[in-house]
Amino acid sequence: MTTNGAALPWTFIRGQIRPLEEARIPITTHALSYGTGCFEGIRGNWNPATAQLNLFRMREHYARLKASACVLHVEIAQSVDELCDLTVELAARNGFRGDVYIRPIAYKAGEVIGVRLHDVADDLAIFMAPFAEYLDAQHGLRCRTSSWRRVPNSVIPARAKATGKYVNSALAKTEAWALGFDEAMMLTTEGMVSEGSAENVFIVRDGRLATPSATEDILVGITRDTVMEIAREELGIATAERAISLAELYEADECFMTGTAAHVTPVVEVDQVPIGTGRPGPLTCQLIDLYGQLIRGEIPRYRTWCTAVPLGEPVTRSGHP
Ligand code: PMP
Repeated sequence: MTTNGAALPWTFIRGQIRPLEEARIPITTHALSYGTGCFEGIRGNWNPATAQLNLFRMREHYARLKASACVLHVEIAQSVDELCDLTVELAARNGFRGDVYIRPIAYKAGEVIGVRLHDVADDLAIFMAPFAEYLDAQHGLRCRTSSWRRVPNSVIPARAKATGKYVNSALAKTEAWALGFDEAMMLTTEGMVSEGSAENVFIVRDGRLATPSATEDILVGITRDTVMEIAREELGIATAERAISLAELYEADECFMTGTAAHVTPVVEVDQVPIGTGRPGPLTCQLIDLYGQLIRGEIPRYRTWCTAVPLGEPVTRSGHP
């Protein structure tokens, strides 16, 4: 990855900021064999009007990373504040002028053989890359119920964003893709709606919002929380967190998915059943609009969720602009 001829982007690994090509891990790394790591995805949203990169709800992402790491017995030396400062420094050095995706990953870095979480050395890496649209927000998604059920909480804790668990997501996503769909709709072992491969799910029925509760084997999404807050505060619409059956999903007036990468993306079809009119619904479109503004720091009330990156010239490998 190169920008302006300079070796970019800068990356944090083994306690230091280094060029990406130096941020390599050995084949013997524990996390590579056993999926013993946890990660986050944080968006930096570029605002062309203010020429500012806004890191969205970074504190909440790092708080979740720390919680996931706790479950996985991975020690992260830095506090949430230190992780935020480090990320701002990294983003400033990289000097991206466009949307970016930031990936912190805390993992079992020890070069040992043996399935366990104890007595294996840990490390934290942070890398970032330019990132545009992840899913087609304009036309909406055609989803298919996955043959793969969501990993139950009793197998791997749902709240932890553990790397190993993403095999389940990847199986579901690729199955949906192979069958000509955009995204998987994953169900719990009991057959209730859980989430997408990397998104939470909402439905609209009679002007009210509902989303599977934390007990439905979901990752409790930060975008999910954001959407519930703006629906309540800006539109006066409460969200019920509860179990949702597949039949209720088919019958919904609207459906959408939420995620850091996905933003708010309409779902227009599930298992070839059109949802509502089969086009992105009016409440979904309102939420897309509000969400799109607030992540770029355009709504003063929510600006505290955005951390602006001080942008100078990107720092080249020699350390000079
Ligand atoms: N569920 C899963 C499985 C995910 O990977 C993600 C993406 N992090 C989400 C839901 C949405 O979470 P968030 O809004 O915090 O990105």
